[in-house]
Amino acid sequence: PLPVLAVVGRPNVGKSTLVNRIIGRREAVVEDKPGVTRDRVTYEAEWAGRRFKVVDTGGWEQDVLGIDASVAAQAEFAIEAADACLFVVDATVGATDTDEAVVKLLRRAGKPVVLAANKVDGQSGEADAATLWSLGLGEPFPVSSLHGRGTGDLLDEVLKKL
Ligand code: GDP
Ligand code: MG
Repeated sequence: PLPVLAVVGRPNVGKSTLVNRIIGRREAVVEDKPGVTRDRVTYEAEWAGRRFKVVDTGGWEQDVLGIDASVAAQAEFAIEAADACLFVVDATVGATDTDEAVVKLLRRAGKPVVLAANKVDGQSGEADAATLWSLGLGEPFPVSSLHGRGTGDLLDEVLKKL
């Protein structure tokens, strides 16, 4: 079976946009409204001659009821089923309490994690990305999922963990 990468993070950080980059087509549902990807959606991807599966998930919000709680549960299932996790943070916002909560979940799961500092569309965003060292997950990889900046280096790192 192919190794599985779960893409996780809070709503609206750009997970589905990044998944589209990784799979090389516009298929994962991208929306300006947070929390649009309700369930886990699995795609096949290939990088540097290696094939793997990518699971796009809905985001987390803490202390919410109803549908968003079930989205969070789906994301937790995705982590459990994954060989490695790609944790996406919005570098233009910085680390939020929700991001910190996701870090705890990831630590508990004990899976290898690669940290994507998304929405670094230009050179000036690099400093924002560097602040995410504070999450304690190692090197933040600055990427622009929208434009493709940095995604090659990110995927090279992902392959090391899969
Ligand atoms: P998700 O909820 O985490 O899956 O986030 P989406 O992929 O649906 O993206 C949420 C919003 O962020 C959309 O408006 C995207 O176009 C935007 N977005 C995603 N990646 C980037 C990026 O690298 N740069 C910028 N400027 N916007 C982005
Ligand atoms: Mg999404």
